[in-house]
Amino acid sequence: MASCTICPRTAEDGHHTCPLHAAELREWLAELPAQAELLGDFLAPESRPAAGRTGGTGRAHSPVPVDLRVLTLLGPGHAETRSEDDDGTIPILAWLDGWAGHIAYTYPSVSRDPHGTTHIQPCEAARPASTRPDGRRHGPTVTGWCIWLTRYLPYVLAHPWAGDFHRQLGDLIDRVRDLTHAVPHRHHYAAPCPVCEAFDLGAVDGQDGITCGVCGHHLSHTDYDQHVNAVLIELAERQQAS
Ligand SMILES: [Zn+2]
Ligand SMILES: [Zn+2]
Repeated sequence: MASCTICPRTAEDGHHTCPLHAAELREWLAELPAQAELLGDFLAPESRPAAGRTGGTGRAHSPVPVDLRVLTLLGPGHAETRSEDDDGTIPILAWLDGWAGHIAYTYPSVSRDPHGTTHIQPCEAARPASTRPDGRRHGPTVTGWCIWLTRYLPYVLAHPWAGDFHRQLGDLIDRVRDLTHAVPHRHHYAAPCPVCEAFDLGAVDGQDGITCGVCGHHLSHTDYDQHVNAVLIELAERQQAS
């Protein structure tokens, strides 16, 4: 069995990462749009009160000079501008767009010509095809690309460069969190992990389901409730037996 390209754990079948690092990628892609929005608040401190952070009596913090790093992170999203500036800050959109382009270029697109011959060639371009609740496309926004990349995550994980993707996205999230000071809270769940039995199940604000912090096993809240029931029944049976 192959090992994870990021840690010594065993990778999932056909993947180059362990479940924990796959789950981390999913979590970061879910977190990034909200983080980018918080960054945007720095640019318009007057027009947009920081929702949820005010006590109803005005802004939670006075306007601060816009950090150059914020401007860079929210800068134009062209792949050509992907050159890193002095401290290595890359525009979020350019980073997302660059990776989506790379994935699309390596993703085999199957087509059939009028003579019935099958052609397999790289996709021409990535298109953030996600639709919003009102039926319109997200377009090449941070949210649109994050949804696109989440859909292609199984494909990413099947390649050795999943490690590069993980390292770069981790760096990006760290930089953004460093500026927004918004680190998602992880709620601890009491039952042991159904797979590795470690007491480290937790759910992160704004993300789906519950993940084990040791082995990366991911389960829905319904699965967790059923698991807790099974654990309690087992405990009761053990107590009766003794
Ligand atoms: Zn790993
Ligand atoms: Zn576990």
